[in-house]
Amino acid sequence: MPALSSIDIKYLAGVGPKKADLLKKEIGIYSVEDLLYYFPYKYIDRSHIYRICEITGSMPYIQLRGKIMSFDPVGEGRNRRLTAKFGDGTGIIELVWFKGIRYIAEKYTIGTEYILFGKPTLFGNRLNIAHPELETPDNSPISQGTGLQAYYSSTEKMKNHFLHSAAILKMMAQLWTHLPGPIFETLPAYLIQQQHLMPIQEALRQIHFPTSPDMLRKAQYRFKFEELFYLQLNILRYTKQRQIKLGGFVFQHIGHFFNDFYHQCLPFELTDAQKRVIREIRNDVGSGRQMNRLLQGDVGSGKTLVALMSMLIAVDNGFQACLMAPTEILANQHYETLSQLIAPIGIRIELLTGSTRKKEREKIHEGLMNGDVQIIVGTHALLENTVQFKNIGMVVIDEQHRFGVEQRSRLWRKNHRPPHILVMTATPIPRTLAMTVYGDLDVSVIDELPPGRKPIQTLHQYDNRRSGIYAAVRKQLEAGRQIYFVYPLIQESEKIDLKNLQEGYEQVKKAFPEYNVCMVHGKMKAAEKDAEMQKFVSATAQIMVATTVIEVGVNVPNASVMVIENAERFGLAQLHQLRGRVGRGADQSYCVLVTSHKLAEDTRKRLEIMVRSNDGFEISEADLQLRGPGDLEGTQQSGIAFNLRIANLAKDGQILQLARETAAGILDDDPSLENPDNRILQHQLQKLFKRKIDWSLIS
Ligand code: ADP
Ligand code: MG
Repeated sequence: MPALSSIDIKYLAGVGPKKADLLKKEIGIYSVEDLLYYFPYKYIDRSHIYRICEITGSMPYIQLRGKIMSFDPVGEGRNRRLTAKFGDGTGIIELVWFKGIRYIAEKYTIGTEYILFGKPTLFGNRLNIAHPELETPDNSPISQGTGLQAYYSSTEKMKNHFLHSAAILKMMAQLWTHLPGPIFETLPAYLIQQQHLMPIQEALRQIHFPTSPDMLRKAQYRFKFEELFYLQLNILRYTKQRQIKLGGFVFQHIGHFFNDFYHQCLPFELTDAQKRVIREIRNDVGSGRQMNRLLQGDVGSGKTLVALMSMLIAVDNGFQACLMAPTEILANQHYETLSQLIAPIGIRIELLTGSTRKKEREKIHEGLMNGDVQIIVGTHALLENTVQFKNIGMVVIDEQHRFGVEQRSRLWRKNHRPPHILVMTATPIPRTLAMTVYGDLDVSVIDELPPGRKPIQTLHQYDNRRSGIYAAVRKQLEAGRQIYFVYPLIQESEKIDLKNLQEGYEQVKKAFPEYNVCMVHGKMKAAEKDAEMQKFVSATAQIMVATTVIEVGVNVPNASVMVIENAERFGLAQLHQLRGRVGRGADQSYCVLVTSHKLAEDTRKRLEIMVRSNDGFEISEADLQLRGPGDLEGTQQSGIAFNLRIANLAKDGQILQLARETAAGILDDDPSLENPDNRILQHQLQKLFKRKIDWSLIS
């Protein structure tokens, strides 16, 4: 018998060339096998039959059992429709069709008993059901023993040619009863056994024609596991290969720089989370593998210290280290902080940015070449070819989402082997997504804030309450605090946004005439921007009006209030990042989200989450649930589309974890999958990932 994948869908009984063409073009079903793997998107319980007298306007899809009592065509031309009266002895309800009128009138007959399936809606004050499905009781799924009926998505075009869900289900039934070839298992037998998975044949049957909710769950579990397993196996096998090929510098010992710093300079006790992450990093750099680690930690969780201590390990082992930041201001701040922290232990640390003067720059270049400069902090300027190291061993990248993949890989080439890489981000993405998007990065998490922080209070206010907001702001100003006003600025509406920003600036100036107001936005020249920013940092200006350019960077602990205008136009992750600019000092801080009254439902939800939670991970999980993985920041940039058939990254985190561990375990024993038991894995990987993605570049 031929393989199912080689049988064109047009040869399936009842399909024919025209429908086959639609299936191919609309939903990519070419072969009989493709159809078999076209999974339902939902199931509806059809085990219950309602009585017409029970119907209300707010019900989901329901079933009725009764007879058509009459057909009545109504209207003319574009308003033409067919209505019918449907009764079951307890009442009568109107049915209505706007399309396929002739077909309907011919197909169904008055007086025959039907099982009707549809969604009642209130039209004016009359209930009706538009485009119901009607089947004689013998054909109805309910008579087949199970109440669960599969629903398949179909496009508008398909529906116009009667290729709707019910038609697909019918094709599926046809295929299933006359399978033209064998179904082969797609997972190794040992895995099926170990993980207690449903075998493929049974799982396929249950996914389309469930015999019980429990069996359906088992089938879904199998396919979710399988999908995530192969995804992880594919990612991890490249990582493994790269690790074997490249190897990493070994930082064997913890020397006096690290120890002196730890015992003499550390201004406070490390949090448990910081300790754990430093241990993870020590393990990595001692292992002989090149470290590629993503460090996620909420704003203010103390990532800088972790970065510093990682760099000290490198220095202890005779290597240089660098810390790269996305903006000059941030690089400056890091340099200041680090120099102060390590001043007592005698390490040469330098700063290199676009505005480093030529003479100074040449000195630094030389110091990097001969190894005198042990730690360098900088911006993109570090990537230039003129920057050469004697022996760079550790690269820390702050705020990863601002750097492109290509830029990062340039740093790799600054030594004969790639240095260890630590990427730090305060835009937490859920672990499940991190494992998929940053496939080959190991993930560390600082999930604990240093003690003694006062959580930021977040409020949602409507913009007609402006005088109240200003009054509260004034109180804080009088207490000596500084204030941010943030406006959206996006490319599509740049002109209008700039105008709003300008108007906002004038308005704020007028409202607080006795205070100094500065303004920063992305359209300014760098020098002008820095000068304005500096006014706020030095507290010459008490109020800053800005766009999201302040999202990353500025550290002004005295700023205690952030007012975000048009908050409805920001994403959750962005709001959280912005909010992280306050709450850095000892004072109670506030974030005020200002919006108009008219808000979409999911916007309202977003704002509610912000008001309720200060936890970046909780917020990003919520974001994932609200928007789905495709929309999340990070995933778009990485350019990976998630064409998951059945698994859901927002919901199947546990299965993903298990799948990843399972895949890693298999690769540990058999890195190139040569074991006969694993041949099936090779085969499936080839089939699933024809277009090879170079995961090694996604870091
Ligand atoms: P982020 O993770 O946002 O980069 P930082 O590294 O800038 O956070 O740390 C935020 C603040 O918390 C800094 O002022 C830092 O000195 C302080 N800090 C870091 N770790 C601790 C700790 N273990 N205990 C107390 N304060 C800490
Ligand atoms: Mg930071």
